[in-house]
Formats: sequence, C-alpha cells, structure tokens
Amino acid sequence: MARILLVEDEAEMARLVAGSIESDGFLVDRAGSCEDARLTLELARYALVLLDRRLPDGDGLSLLRTVRATQPGVPVIVLTALDRLDDKVHGLDAGADDYLTKPFFADELMARIRAALRRPGAEPAAPLLCGRLRFDPARREVDIEGQPLVLKRRELLALEALIRRAGRVVQRDALVAAVYGMEDDVLPKALDSHISRLRRRLAELDAGVTIHPIRNVGYMLKPA
Ligand code: CA
Repeated sequence: MARILLVEDEAEMARLVAGSIESDGFLVDRAGSCEDARLTLELARYALVLLDRRLPDGDGLSLLRTVRATQPGVPVIVLTALDRLDDKVHGLDAGADDYLTKPFFADELMARIRAALRRPGAEPAAPLLCGRLRFDPARREVDIEGQPLVLKRRELLALEALIRRAGRVVQRDALVAAVYGMEDDVLPKALDSHISRLRRRLAELDAGVTIHPIRNVGYMLKPA
C-alpha cells in the first residue's frame, strides 16, 4: 500500500484531505509543522508528499530540500491558499512536481496524486543494512542473508524506523508516529508490545541485531 505524507497544519483541512486519500486506498501520515515533517521523513519512506506552504514554523517549501535528500525521486505536490502566479512559479522552481491551490475538489487532488505516482523517474532507494538484516525500502521487504522475513505491518513499520537510524536512538514519539501514523490515539504499551515481538523474532532467526530499550527515551537497533 503506497504511503503518503500530508504536511498540513489546519486540522479540518488535514482531516478532509486524509479522508479522501485513505478512501482511495492509500496510507496517510500527517505532520502539522516543518519540524514534524522532517522527523517523519527520516523514519519512513513515502510514495508522495503533499505539502502546505503556510506552516506554523515556516514555509513548507523549505522542506523540499529535506525531501530530496531523504527520499530522492519522491513526487511533491504543493497544496496552498497562495494563488498568485509568482507563488506558483516559485514553488515549481523550488522543485515541487505539481501545485494545487485551495480550495480544490477531492477528485482533482486524487487525479493529481495518481498522475504524480505514474510518473517515471523515481530512483530506487539503496537497501538498508544492519547485522545480517537487509531492508529494501522500495519493495518494503526484509531478509536475513537472503531468507525473506515476513513481518506484521506494524512490526515492519517499527523495523523500518529503527533501521533507518541504526546505531542511534529513535525516540518513542517518533516511533509511535512511524508505526501508527500521526492521528491515532495509541496506548503507551502497544508500541512496547510490537517492539518486543519484533525483538523476539529477530533473536529467534539470528538476525545479528539487537533492539536496545533506552529507558524513558526510546529504542535503538544495533548489530549484535
Ligand atoms: Ca497552513
């Protein structure tokens, strides 16, 4: 299922846009500020990014560089109330793939999303390695020295967030965002139980990695 990042600070707008995208069968993560979006981009791989310009901590266009650095080839559609021609030109010059001005119809947004996803040219991302584990971000597949490892969806999302920052601590909030999306209410224990199942699987299969709990902070994946 293709995953889309929606960067939008207005709650009602975000709810409506996320609803249309989800009903078309995509998975949506939301970020409400530039800072949220930067964090999220480091932790998960997206098929497409929808970007509002007026965010509480800056212009959404400032995120284009982060998107290009962390997720090469990912299409970006700018969604904004700024509709003067030079704003649009500025957005496209800054590297956005498309531009949609508010208000827009859900049908038009979905048509633009499908068109952007069909566009060729996305570079395949290099696999992420840790211990004997290999995570292929393009196919979202994991293997241990060539033996495929099938994980439940939330375990896979947790592993993706951890392996992207292998050797560094991933904070609980960031993991919750990566595993559950931005809008869900998550019981603190739910994350821990997904992680402990994942730890057990990796240990049983001798994946050559360990997941260290860092008390009151988060988790870290390291070669064993
Ligand atoms: Ca806004």
